[in-house]
Amino acid sequence: MDDKYPNQPNTSSNGLARAGTGVGRALLRRCPFCGAKHIFENWFTLKKQCPGCGSVFEPEDGYMLGSYVVNLGLTAVIGVLFAVSVVFGTDLSVIAVQIAAVVLVVGLPLFLYGYSQLFWICIDLVFNSTQKFDPAQAAGRAHHHHA
Ligand SMILES: [Zn+2]
Repeated sequence: MDDKYPNQPNTSSNGLARAGTGVGRALLRRCPFCGAKHIFENWFTLKKQCPGCGSVFEPEDGYMLGSYVVNLGLTAVIGVLFAVSVVFGTDLSVIAVQIAAVVLVVGLPLFLYGYSQLFWICIDLVFNSTQKFDPAQAAGRAHHHHA
């Protein structure tokens, strides 16, 4: 890893430990590898590399497609919880429930998108070490890909 980055990524050899630590950091919108803050360009867009440890957040083309699946799954789960709580717990009018549902269905994926990308990385960390996200490794793969 490059010397210009102050942090070391989590090198634990235990996949579940790497992922668990990563999820805790992801919930705070911090780097899953080292816990650094300010890893987003804006609400939706991750920086290319972590300013703390230099890890590459998208180590290969199309890598973040999986985050859409995570996002859909989270939206579905929260949507079902919302539906159940409406059915059993409120006396809102039908129109109010419909408005709330639309806001939820449109707003949730937008709200969750950044988290979904970080959670997707955490799922990957169960199986792959942080080596995969090392910029030198990622550059090597890209080079071979285009050669
Ligand atoms: Zn980091």
